[in-house]
Amino acid sequence: MTELFAILNELEDIIYVSDIETYELLFLNAAAVKTLSQKEGDALVGRKCYEVLQGKTSPCEFCTNKFLLRENFYTWEYTNLKYERHFLVKDKLLVWKNRKMRFEIAIDITERQKEKEQIEHDLKTQSVIVESLQILDQEHNLEQAIEKIMGTLGRHHMADRGYVFEFDEKEGLANNTYEWCANGIAPQKQTLQRVPLQDMHRWLSTFRQKGEMLIQSLPKEVDASSAEYQTLHAQGIESLMAAPIMDEGQIVGCLGVDNPRYAFGDTLLLKSVGYFIKSYMEKQRTKTYLEKLSLTDSLTGLGNRNKYIAALRKMTADETHDFGVAFIDINGLKAANDAFGHDYGDQILVKIANILHDIFGGDAFRTGGDEFIILCPGLSKEEFTEKAHLLRRKLAETPDCHVSCGIAWEKSVEDIEAFIKYADELMYIEKQSYYKNTLGKRALHHSSIMEETLRGLEHGEFLVHFQPKISLKSGELGGAEALIRKLDHNGDLVPPMKFIPLLESELLIRHIDFFVLHQVCRTIKRWRTHAAKTVPVSVNLSRLTLMEHNIVEKLSSVCALYDVPCNLIDIEVTESIGAINPESLKVVSYKLRKEGFSLSLDDFGSKYCNFSILANIEFTCLKLDKSLIASLCINNRSRMVAKHCIQLCMDIEGISSVAEGIESEQQLNLLKIYNCDYGQGYYFSKPISIYDFEQRYFPELRSDFH
Ligand code: C2E
Ligand code: MG
Ligand code: MG
Repeated sequence: MTELFAILNELEDIIYVSDIETYELLFLNAAAVKTLSQKEGDALVGRKCYEVLQGKTSPCEFCTNKFLLRENFYTWEYTNLKYERHFLVKDKLLVWKNRKMRFEIAIDITERQKEKEQIEHDLKTQSVIVESLQILDQEHNLEQAIEKIMGTLGRHHMADRGYVFEFDEKEGLANNTYEWCANGIAPQKQTLQRVPLQDMHRWLSTFRQKGEMLIQSLPKEVDASSAEYQTLHAQGIESLMAAPIMDEGQIVGCLGVDNPRYAFGDTLLLKSVGYFIKSYMEKQRTKTYLEKLSLTDSLTGLGNRNKYIAALRKMTADETHDFGVAFIDINGLKAANDAFGHDYGDQILVKIANILHDIFGGDAFRTGGDEFIILCPGLSKEEFTEKAHLLRRKLAETPDCHVSCGIAWEKSVEDIEAFIKYADELMYIEKQSYYKNTLGKRALHHSSIMEETLRGLEHGEFLVHFQPKISLKSGELGGAEALIRKLDHNGDLVPPMKFIPLLESELLIRHIDFFVLHQVCRTIKRWRTHAAKTVPVSVNLSRLTLMEHNIVEKLSSVCALYDVPCNLIDIEVTESIGAINPESLKVVSYKLRKEGFSLSLDDFGSKYCNFSILANIEFTCLKLDKSLIASLCINNRSRMVAKHCIQLCMDIEGISSVAEGIESEQQLNLLKIYNCDYGQGYYFSKPISIYDFEQRYFPELRSDFH
């Protein structure tokens, strides 16, 4: 027996024997004494097993005495709460001298248990990662995918909420973009939008330093008076853990769970999933961008034909009530491209697209080269008509945007495609009437107007008149302005405003402008050869002509043909050239000036005073509009504007002032007081034929006039 005890004492496992009836401890081996003694030399034998082993005052409710047998061991596992150890226990019944005893071997498997738990935890973590990857692979909707993953994470950590915040460094804001909530937990996403990043300063610096954010007890770890505490407390958060979402070393967001009841402090999952989510979001964004590209017209940014077709397909039967359609086709875009290059044509397309987008937003599509379609489901007749009117008004107000429209609205549309075709036909009718109107009752198309204009130019149906420009200082002739006139069938003069708009919209104005330049150069050549003096002459150039490819070379080659120095030609452009792309305008004006031409800004103050154009372009002359001069003596505001514009010209070196439309001496006197350089107007002379002009101002030419 003693030998047996000696062997038992050698063993590392706890072994004891107790009386089944009385629970008295009868034997404990050395390992048991060592583990269970509270102090050195503690006498354990004779005391109750439940007291020594479990710290209890009565037998344990889980006591296995009743199950014990003599034949074999009863094996079980339990965690001893008194010693905080986990044991594998083997119990057996011993009977000695009719006394029933419990023989127990308790093997301490605490470490093994920990390992087992760790393995289980790792496996769970792995499975959450795999599950998240599967969701990302199978779910094509970004929002649903991320919210599902938040759910998986939240459930794993037994949390109340799982969420993603995205940080917008530029705006300095954080937004709660995705959220999952456990049953019965109130969502917070709506209230956590546009949170100033500076309010999350502590989070950001903790992310930077520790790579994670852990709050185990909100009241203990966060100052109760801080904004952070208030915000978290208001959401019912007592603990949380979060990990940053990184992109190229930058923190771009974070992923977190509130009130995690399992695996607090283990942010491995948050970090790994954060990484996948980031790459997935990026992939989805690229995909959306590519999809958008394939549905967007790259020039105008409007939806393209693909998007239009998709929109039509998606349209459900309910949407075909209160349906408005507009079919829009640009007039003469091809001619514009041919004459002025594609950049110019592109500018027109963009201008029109912007107008459509401003009024109709995503309902406007560019469905072809020069064709746009607007689909407006669910708009009342009044609403649609109002928008359609606005569209027509805006298009009419914007230079160069000549279009034909077909606009239709129906209470209920049965066949959408047929309805759109109907709008297309309306557009076509408008296009026909546009051609008819532009040609006075004769239905000719563009090339016929062109033929007619060219024939008119050849057959002397167009005439150039000169109007003198008088120096207000000396009263002498300072120059002339060349103005086009047309002879009608009765031989009456037609003023330019009656035919120029049509020629501009048909892109034929260049022929007029060059015709005038030829006449002007021919006249100046005569003065240079035969007259005692020569004065510069102004030629009006349409902004369309000005934007023509190589315009400066073309103008100077005409001058060279007549041996006229470019500095005798003044190019007048109206204030509406402000509508031209400022960069192109800058380039062409620079080239003109470099070539020696002078450059006048015509009609200044007629609509608005575009001072910015004066700052950007080096004009040599500013022409005050006749409307300003007409009201000079009656309107104090006009007087102020005129006075200041003239003063401005004096202040800017190299720019002279011309007042147009002087009709009275009173106006002239005021302008003289204001120190205006030149005057033009009926007071001096109406525009007159070149012959009359030379009769009056170049008397020496009379004898040898052609
Ligand atoms: P603009 O260049 O501002 O020309 C001045 C206009 O004012 C001329 O009208 C002229 O007849 C008118 N005018 C001059 N003095 C007076 C006055 O004392 N009282 C009044 N009420 N009017 C006066 P016009 O000739 O009818 O020309 C109108 C516009 O047509 C011109 O305005 C110019 O923008 C354009 N234009 C004329 N010739 C050409 C041309 O060869 N090419 C281009 N592209 N445009 C031209
Ligand atoms: Mg002019
Ligand atoms: Mg003018």
